[in-house]
Amino acid sequence: MNDEEMKKAVEHYRLLIEEELEQEKTVNGQRMGPRKFVKKMNIDLTDIIHPKRPFLGKKATDELDTLYVTTFRIGSSKNPVSLTKAGYGTDMVGGIELGTNLVKSGLIKSVEDIVPFLAKYKIGILDIFKEEKIEDGKRLDLRVYECIECCGLPNIGKPTCYFETGMIIGLLGEFTDKKVFAEEVRCWTSGYSFCQFNVEIKEPGNE
Ligand SMILES: [Zn+2]
Repeated sequence: MNDEEMKKAVEHYRLLIEEELEQEKTVNGQRMGPRKFVKKMNIDLTDIIHPKRPFLGKKATDELDTLYVTTFRIGSSKNPVSLTKAGYGTDMVGGIELGTNLVKSGLIKSVEDIVPFLAKYKIGILDIFKEEKIEDGKRLDLRVYECIECCGLPNIGKPTCYFETGMIIGLLGEFTDKKVFAEEVRCWTSGYSFCQFNVEIKEPGNE
């Protein structure tokens, strides 16, 4: 994905986000996007097949993008459902370890490398939407488009990208050597067409 394509994707999704945020509701304290709510506890197998990713999948021939996204998701089935319910813990720790090791091993060499790396391996299109200084550090509003974990999944009423949340913590923690907090506040599985992560990078001693 070159810079031009990346720019186009970000512009496309930022417009879509504006529309979706206008239709946002709060249900039992949970932000909910406009996509129809489906009452179920977990994503099931039929949900994970055939995601459409117009930007990340553009150069993939035939159904290749669909196939490797599905393969990635089937890989999650290595965890039994009983454990998947603890995904907030297990997937997040896995993501933190992967993020940390990607930096330690030199596969991602700088903060600037994160966006192209995630696009190259088709994990998602990262948009650093907002960055602001806060009293004891920095606050980031990160958006991920066409996320390999959740793109195309139904709205089950809660965000589910724990692994990606962990990756963000691991990557930024390793680069900054500071305490990083991240939470996914909007996701395909809570009714949107994007993921949004609220991130805080705190100076040591102030957490
Ligand atoms: Zn998500």
